[in-house]
Formats: sequence, structure tokens, C-alpha cells
Amino acid sequence: MARIKGLARGTIAALAGLCVGSAGAAPVLYTNFTLIDGSGGKPMPAAAMIVDAAKIRWVGPAGKAPRTAGASTVDLSGKYVMPGIIDLHVHIGTVRDLDQKADYFTPDSVRRDLQTYAAFGVTTVQSMGTDKDSILPIRDAGRTGPQSVTRVLTAGQGLVFKGGYGGVPGINHPVATPEEATAEVDAQSAKGVDYIKLWMDDELGAMPKMPYPISKAIIDAAHRNGKRALAHVFYLADAKVLVAQGIDGFMHSVRDKPVDTELISAMKARGVWQGAGTLSREAAVYAFARDNPRTADPFFRQAADPATITGLESPEREKTVAGSRIFPSLPQIDEQARDNERALAQAGVKYGFGTDAGPPGRLPGYSEHWELEQLVKAGFTPSEAIAAATGRSAEWLGTGDRGLIQAGRLADFVVLNADPTRNILNSRKIAVVYIGGNRVPSVR
Ligand SMILES: [Zn+2]
Repeated sequence: MARIKGLARGTIAALAGLCVGSAGAAPVLYTNFTLIDGSGGKPMPAAAMIVDAAKIRWVGPAGKAPRTAGASTVDLSGKYVMPGIIDLHVHIGTVRDLDQKADYFTPDSVRRDLQTYAAFGVTTVQSMGTDKDSILPIRDAGRTGPQSVTRVLTAGQGLVFKGGYGGVPGINHPVATPEEATAEVDAQSAKGVDYIKLWMDDELGAMPKMPYPISKAIIDAAHRNGKRALAHVFYLADAKVLVAQGIDGFMHSVRDKPVDTELISAMKARGVWQGAGTLSREAAVYAFARDNPRTADPFFRQAADPATITGLESPEREKTVAGSRIFPSLPQIDEQARDNERALAQAGVKYGFGTDAGPPGRLPGYSEHWELEQLVKAGFTPSEAIAAATGRSAEWLGTGDRGLIQAGRLADFVVLNADPTRNILNSRKIAVVYIGGNRVPSVR
């Protein structure tokens, strides 16, 4: 859990949800910054924008800003403005330090995580299937308007095969038959979740995998309820079956083999999204088993409580991770994930941005900036990586109300002290974050 400026850890929950900073009652002219609009196009120097009532009302060259009655001016000379990051794959509320439990999930634990995301410039997250129902009012409150915590969408309790891989014990309701799966999707839909999530994996052969008749029942029931179906996937063969069954998006890279023209053609023909590459996940699951400079990085330490850092650096942690059955396979899986993410994007498959942040060691806030770095390592330009995390992920959401610095969109944006299109590590040089025009508390 990150430490948020001016707030002792125990008081964060009490303040979360209140508007702090300027609430955007009067219009504000932000001017003289370099604009990175989220489309992947060239940055525009000497730009300006007018924010009013939580939205961007005008954006363009600073010299052409229209006079606006009652507007105050914020001079951002030397700064860079980009849209807030949209992470399409996170898990929230269930982790304290390196320990994950259903019991930890409360409205306060959710808001604490959402406040951490906000402080790191992540302004919308999709929570992927490990939420209790108490997230729903928090989701509703964050749909629009000024916020002091990140906006969240939820897949509720995702679909896990009984005895199989995925979910958090005590939260998800594992299913054993297509009939049970259909009933569970109907129940999730009736609660008003945003998406239906399923896990199709076997932990490299260690667990039973969801049978295809069940995934088919889940996808069909999701569509009958007007919901999109998203899958955790690992194997190329499963990805092909899920596409044929009508899946709407994948929440990980295929990681066992290179993606081939059969999968690429099918994804393009059916408009299936590569929703999340989760490259930082693949890097994280083995990184902390080694002498790793990451825990010494001040930016990492901002995102982590001291107990988390101590745990990650402990010999026990190294033994557990490095001693695991799957550890020797992890570097190859990491590389395959990057290669496949690049291959899908280059082939013209629609793609978004997601980290799988939240579980132990995959820190909210830090993970998104690490993911941007991993995308560049995979061969994306910094501008392409930023567009994936903003404009492209907004296109997946389909609400048309965020993800770009554009008139009419929500004023969810990040002010940076250095140019992230020149060096992606500059995404970490955060000056201030706004959600719906509201300045959010920063990390200490
Ligand atoms: Zn996940």
C-alpha cells in the first residue's frame, strides 16, 4: 500500500471518496504545456485546455484559447499532459503486504487501492473477477464527475471451474457443469457487473482446466445478458477455441507458443480484443526471486509499504518463488508474452493495456508504469505504449468519455515533469493527477 501525502495510513479510508483539492466548480485554463493526447500522434508543444464541470471543454494551441468568463489560469510551462492511464486488468481490495485473503476485501480496502492508483496517474481500472458485491456502489459513484479515487469497473465474481485454476477462495463460486455456469452468469448479470470473466488455465498441468462446454455456456449466457465475456488464457490452442466460441477479449498474452496466422485471422474477423498483455505480471512473477534492483528503486518504494519490501527481499520469498515447480519456465513465458503482444498489435488486432496488478508483489500504481516499460521492451514505441494505455483502452470501454485529451471527454489527466514519448521511464515523473478536474492526493 502506498503512502499518500499528508495522510496517515489509517485515515486514508476515511477521506477517500471526499473531494479534495479544487473541485472544478469554476472553469480552469491550463496552459503552455506539451500535449500528449492519447491518440499516439505527435506531441503538440505550447498547448492549452479549458476544464469545466469535470470535463475538457476546449483543447488547442495556447495562443488560441477562447476567453472564458470566471476562469482561473494554471501555467504548466515545461510540463507534459497526458490522459490518465486506463488499466483493463487489475485485482483490488484483497491484499495486505504480501498476503491475499477474501476477508481483507472491504469498501475501505477497495478505496485504499483506488486512491493508490489515482496517485500514480491510473484513473480508470477494470477489476477482473475477484470482487465482493460491496464494490458495486463504489463503481456506480465513479462513473462520471470529479473523483478523489480512481474510477473502477468490475467483472464481479469471475467464473472458475470447480477444483481448477483462478479466482480467490471465499469470493468466487466455482462451477462444475454448463448448467451451473449459466446460472452463475445470470446471477452476476442480475447484480449489474460490467463484464463476465472466465479462467481457462491449468497452472502448467497442475490443475484441471475448464472444459470447453463450460466456457461455451459462459460466453453464450454473457451475450444473452448483454455482457461481454473476457478470458484469462495461457495456451494458444485454448485461445483459438475461445475465439470460435465467441469470446470478446483476452486478459493475458498467449504464453506457450507464438501466435499464428490462424489465431490472428480469427481475432480480426470476429473483432476479438487483445485486452491486456500483462507483461509486467510475467516479469514480476519471477523477478523477486533474484537479487533485484527494483525494491531499491525510489519509485517502487513509493508504491510499497515497508513490510512488502522486507517480504520481497526476504530469503524465504526467494526460496518459495525460485523453488517452485514452474520457476524454470518463467523467463521463457515472459519473453513469449512480449513477442506475442507485439505480433498481435503489428498484425492489426485491436489491443488495450492491462497489468494484472494487485496480487502480492504486483503493486498497484507501480505496475502500470512497469507495463509501459515492458511494452517498449517488446518493441512498441513510447507513443504506442501510451496510446495503448489511454486512447486504445478507452475504445475498449466503449463509453467514449475518457482516455483522450479531447473536448467533451472527462478531465482525467496526468501532468508530468518530463517527456514520456522520449523516454518511457518519464511516465513516472508525475507532478500532479486530476480525475474529473479534481486534483487527487499525491504519493509522498
Ligand atoms: Zn488477473
